[in-house]
Amino acid sequence: MNTKSKLIVLCGPSGGGKSTIVKFLLENIKDLTLSISATTRKIRESEVDGEHYHFVSQEEFLEKIKAGEFLEYEEVYPGRFYGTLKKHIDDLLENSNVIFDIDVAGALNIKKIYDSQAITIFIAPPSMEILKERLHARGSETSEDFKVRLEKAEIELSYAKNFEQIIVNDDLDTACLKAKDIVQKFLK
Ligand code: ADP
Ligand code: 5GP
Repeated sequence: MNTKSKLIVLCGPSGGGKSTIVKFLLENIKDLTLSISATTRKIRESEVDGEHYHFVSQEEFLEKIKAGEFLEYEEVYPGRFYGTLKKHIDDLLENSNVIFDIDVAGALNIKKIYDSQAITIFIAPPSMEILKERLHARGSETSEDFKVRLEKAEIELSYAKNFEQIIVNDDLDTACLKAKDIVQKFLK
């Protein structure tokens, strides 16, 4: 592994703005590559297999667990697995810094493994009301999934204090610039 490469781990409740901020960072910071996780959840209309996630069946996912292929994985929502593939990360770290958009448990696991080579950043919504509005406006979830995501959001928010940096995503431009500043300082 190229030990000069670093890991940037973004985390926070669904609908809080992680993917939007990650996209901004990828477009505005050089030598930064997105970690593409494997997941068993259904693909959204706006997504491309292999670009947003590797969409796999539950059987394939369980086989990868058995074969020890994951650096970390979580059943983030009941019956929905998400995981970071070891080989994918080793390959990316050879040539680039890597940015992750993963859940609280996954983020803290990556930090435990990579220690000072990794930074953890929590993206918090200004309030639960605004989080609900954003999740609703995104229109990507069924009403059952929506409820599950809001329940998990409450738990995730209680872990914000365990992160090295917290960004409240109120005004999007301000949040993006703050994230860029934090990441650039960390990569120096
Ligand atoms: P996450 O990746 O954390 O689930 P997204 O990046 O998909 O969240 O953001 C959820 C929705 O909220 C998207 O429709 C996005 O365009 C919108 N959004 C993100 N940040 C803001 C913001 N600061 N103000 C208003 N809308 C936002
Ligand atoms: P979504 O279904 O909205 O894409 O993602 C749901 C949640 O799963 C988000 O909190 C996202 O950060 C998390 N997630 C995505 N990939 C991974 C992964 O590889 N590992 C873990 N632990 N969480 C992930």
